[in-house]
Amino acid sequence: MNSNMMFGRSHRRVHPAYMIFSDLGLSEDLLNAVTDAGYIEPTPIQAEAIPYVLMGRDILGCAQTGTGKTASFTLPMIDILAQGRSKARMPRSLILEPTRELAAQVAENFDIYGKNHRLTKALLIGGESLDEQAKVINKGVDVLIATPGRLIDMFERGLLLLNDVKVFVIDESDRMLDMGFIPDVERIASMLPPLRTTLLFSATMPKEIKKLAEKFLMNPKEVTVAPPSTTADTITQGLLVLGPPNDRRPGAEQKMKRNALRELIKREAPRNALIFCNRKRDVDIVHRSLNRHGLEAARLHGDMSQPMRMETLTKFKTGDMRYLVCSDVAARGIDIPEMSHVFNFDVPTHAEDYVHRIGRTGRAGREGHAITIAVSADAKYIDAIERITHTPIPRIKLEGEKGGELDTTKEKPKRQRNRRQTKSNRAPTEAKVLTENDESLGAVPAVEQSSDERGRSRQRKEAHKDELLEVNEVPVRGLGDHVPAFMLREVELS
Ligand code: AMP
Repeated sequence: MNSNMMFGRSHRRVHPAYMIFSDLGLSEDLLNAVTDAGYIEPTPIQAEAIPYVLMGRDILGCAQTGTGKTASFTLPMIDILAQGRSKARMPRSLILEPTRELAAQVAENFDIYGKNHRLTKALLIGGESLDEQAKVINKGVDVLIATPGRLIDMFERGLLLLNDVKVFVIDESDRMLDMGFIPDVERIASMLPPLRTTLLFSATMPKEIKKLAEKFLMNPKEVTVAPPSTTADTITQGLLVLGPPNDRRPGAEQKMKRNALRELIKREAPRNALIFCNRKRDVDIVHRSLNRHGLEAARLHGDMSQPMRMETLTKFKTGDMRYLVCSDVAARGIDIPEMSHVFNFDVPTHAEDYVHRIGRTGRAGREGHAITIAVSADAKYIDAIERITHTPIPRIKLEGEKGGELDTTKEKPKRQRNRRQTKSNRAPTEAKVLTENDESLGAVPAVEQSSDERGRSRQRKEAHKDELLEVNEVPVRGLGDHVPAFMLREVELS
């Protein structure tokens, strides 16, 4: 690529902060598609990354969703792939995404930006027909967007060859790490030709991701935008701490939280809202409860079939449904520019999840509201959130309610003590995410397991145990890992 292409027609170096799209070296067809998408100027990550991707440099991008990072790799990829043709079963580029929703969203981006090109793409995600996906790949595709589990499955069945991949994108790497996908990612990278461009994106840079970058990137251009723990200024936050319930029966606290949620919805009158719960079981309960009280809500979590998840998202995106109760699987990547509210029905136990959850509102400079419901035992989680965001969340109260206090004297909630007893100290993170994403629990290898796979299978077992602890607080003795679902189901509902 010559400098003319790289820095636009003006032949001068432009500081990324002042770049306009035509400075980036993108083709005319692509610039037209970008204009049609309504973009006026590149976001910082686009201004910084696109010229380097076009040059064929590897990228280590520290950026989260909402920064325009998807276009920072899809736009240059379209121009790179515009030349050349794909062969049967040999995709020319590969994008790895941790969840099906993110993969589908990246595919949508290719449709928008690639509308003036004739590139072919395939989406390889779990939960949808493997035969159909194999047929598309067999015809030859330019862009393959995949989740790791399904990709490996397809590769092992001999339905896919990866030796023609020229651009490899590992998106949301820290999420891949949380989900225990890193061994899969490493395996996939080893199946690719060494001569390629690799782009790695991550919202945070823990040491495991840095190691991955050292192993698979060659002299990467490092691009960092907005520190991962910042929350947008456009989001008005609030923390409602509830007092102890009057009723001492089990489930009384949850009932109190559901009442509070309805009060908040009444008070805030959201245009639309995401309501986050920590556990799938609570997603179901809150969803039913809202509907029973006449607040039409949909729900989204990892146990639902893929077509159902897609249908729900579409309904929510098009405004057919005003409320979406969801687990963290929906926290990343859902992109609805005009989301007015986010409610945390539960305080997230991982502080970064708070940033991701509330980042679903206040997008693209619009005003957003994020309200978290807490009980006294949530003190340490709130503390962790306020430490990473460097801002106390303003306390709010419901009208006529005294409210409660966070109990800062308690060291750890009981559930956390239980979970700490497991061998692996990373298991809690995985446990949480593994239960949210069927990709990770699904494909247990049928044939000989490598030591990596054995390790992962052990991790899955640990994770499953942790899930039982999370649902049950204490494990059900004598039933091993497979406690019948009816024994775990909560019956009380208001
Ligand atoms: P992402 O970080 O890739 O999830 O993108 C977040 C949102 O920003 C999406 O709705 C994009 O359509 C939008 N977007 C991406 N680039 C731009 C841009 N240059 N100008 C305006 N919006 C953009």
